[in-house]
Amino acid sequence: MNNIEKTYDLIVIGGGLVGLASAYKIQKKMPQIKILILEKEKELALHQSGRNSGVLHSGLYYKPESYRAKNCVAGRRELVDFAKKHQINHEVCGKLVVAKNEKESLALPALLKRGRNNGLENLEIIDAKKIQEIEPFVRGFSAIWVPETGIIDYRAVANKFASLIKKINSESEILTNSQVLKITHRSNNSIIHTQNRIFTGSKIISCAGLFSDRLAKEDGLKLDFKIVGFRGDYYTLTEKAKHKVNNIIYPVPNPEFPFLGVHFTRMINGEIECGPNAVFTFKREGYNKMSFSLQDTLDSLTYIGTWKLFINHWQFGLKEMVKASSKNVFLKHLQQLIPSLETSDIESGRSGVRAMALGRDGEIIEDFQIITKGNSIHVLNAPSPAATACLSIGERVALEFLKKYN
Ligand SMILES: Cc1cc2nc3c(=O)[nH]c(=O)nc-3n(C[C@H](O)[C@H](O)[C@H](O)COP(=O)(O)OP(=O)(O)OC[C@H]3O[C@@H](n4cnc5c(N)ncnc54)[C@H](O)[C@@H]3O)c2cc1C
Repeated sequence: MNNIEKTYDLIVIGGGLVGLASAYKIQKKMPQIKILILEKEKELALHQSGRNSGVLHSGLYYKPESYRAKNCVAGRRELVDFAKKHQINHEVCGKLVVAKNEKESLALPALLKRGRNNGLENLEIIDAKKIQEIEPFVRGFSAIWVPETGIIDYRAVANKFASLIKKINSESEILTNSQVLKITHRSNNSIIHTQNRIFTGSKIISCAGLFSDRLAKEDGLKLDFKIVGFRGDYYTLTEKAKHKVNNIIYPVPNPEFPFLGVHFTRMINGEIECGPNAVFTFKREGYNKMSFSLQDTLDSLTYIGTWKLFINHWQFGLKEMVKASSKNVFLKHLQQLIPSLETSDIESGRSGVRAMALGRDGEIIEDFQIITKGNSIHVLNAPSPAATACLSIGERVALEFLKKYN
């Protein structure tokens, strides 16, 4: 292999929102340091950060005092300011969380209280009539109106972080088509090997999304969880049906699962998306129903947590698989919120895969996890709302980095 090419103060692995926001925060605090960002794809933010629902989450759902709650609320406020300052397409349009019947409506006061505890403003429980003033095609018993929720162009955010990093320090670099394969450490720095190049960095930060556990393992960390992928498929509303959704409409979440349920979102490009479902996938970056990877499958099936997940939650898993394989079943779920939707109103759209940390007990670990060891910092679990929260997570990572660097 080649000789070591270049030395940096910091090497960040992963060009998604979390890696880029972390690098941006560090570069702002320390303009003089040289940062290298390595991304395996040909462009930035092609995985979770570019395949999500595009929602600026309010912070309504998350356990008070958790990192998800704190980072979501603070991160959203910071991201909205960032978007305003840098002219990134976004809109704080508000959303409805709709209880379709009286039984579901019983969950709303607790959700409202949680939202208020998390620092959300102007939340309101509204009745069926008010629901229809906001979303005329939605039928519900009652709803929570969440005015602080919004939509944003997340890929534009990622690319803006990248250009600002370069603007602050022209010696910092962002290399795409650069997959990190190996990490080795010396006493005062670390060596990073890609397919055909070798770099040294005083410190390493890994934000590798769906592969964050593999990089941690490569770096010698022993983890008590594994990253598994849950594919989410979307449908889009056809031109003639778009008028049925104004902004963002969510169902009341099932507290037993870490997913928010299929929802309607007006994307920043004007499309209306419906979804995503949540199907366990045997290819971490597999975006269609037939995607398969032998390595990822073996990795999942030799892990006790996967089997416990299947046993504990087989009914949920089965329902999601049926929803994924049948347009009619998917439509029935959507009709629970908008009964007038017809088969011809929806067409198959894109998919994304969520990286979720699965414990050995078969339960999903919900909160963000950042682990530091030696010269390295690993962001190991950054599920939704990590896109909303990226600047706040980036701040946490930057503070960890400062402790190590000084
Ligand atoms: C379907 C779906 C809907 C979602 N909806 C929302 C939403 O509406 N709002 C919200 O806030 N959050 C949402 N999320 C969550 C959010 O998108 C993610 O939490 C966030 O994007 C995570 O960012 P990341 O940088 O950690 O991961 P990623 O965006 O996946 O980035 C990781 C990067 O690391 C790179 N990489 C991996 N291995 C290597 C390697 N060896 N060498 C070099 N590079 C490597 C990958 O190519 C990738 O670009 C959603 C996620 C999904 C999947």
